Amino acid sequence: MKKKVFLINDANAAALGEMEYGVAKGCRNFIYITISTGIGGGIIIDGELYTGATGMAGEVGHIVVEPDGMPCNCGGVGCWELYASGSAIARRAREKIQQGRKTRLLKIAGGDLDKIDALLIKKAAEQGDALARKLVAETARYLGIGLGSLINIFNPELIVFGGGLSKMGDALLEPAIREAGRRSYHDAYKVVKFALAELGDNSGVLGAAVYARNELKKLKKAG
Ligand SMILES: [Zn+2]
Repeated sequence: MKKKVFLINDANAAALGEMEYGVAKGCRNFIYITISTGIGGGIIIDGELYTGATGMAGEVGHIVVEPDGMPCNCGGVGCWELYASGSAIARRAREKIQQGRKTRLLKIAGGDLDKIDALLIKKAAEQGDALARKLVAETARYLGIGLGSLINIFNPELIVFGGGLSKMGDALLEPAIREAGRRSYHDAYKVVKFALAELGDNSGVLGAAVYARNELKKLKKAG
């Protein structure tokens, strides 16, 4: 028996999962953004996943936010995910500590630089640690710069945040959303809602199933 196999990347699958079963139910125009080690995206236009000419669309993590920034494995420099992802905030924390910045971060990490991650930085920020607060503010600013571009280009009704760094919650997302407001058309910004993904780690799995079902339907229709 011949079997059909369909391929879809994780962020695109998560967007479909959230549209079918999660927080984006009923939305026709929205963007799913996963902020973890990198930044991935899934773009839904008129209720359909937008995949572009050859399936490469939605690589939102490679919007440039620093024209002379760090080199990225996409071939460009200064990409969004190098400045606003979970890896980025942890990297900047380690750099600052190595430069001798005073912070309680290292103590919270038990003296192990490699243990410093976004949630630990959030904890230190809540305790009033100046470096941790600065890192959260900087990351939120970069996050907002990219969000502003997405709002201007796609005029979405909803932006859904998933991935590990989104667990930082309002401490990161509220200032990021304010920054996006300063960098996008008011008429587009005032209609966009922001929400956390509802399906967690299941959004990709569920979305992949939705994708396979939709593609099979299309094939049947085409005969
Ligand atoms: Zn890149």
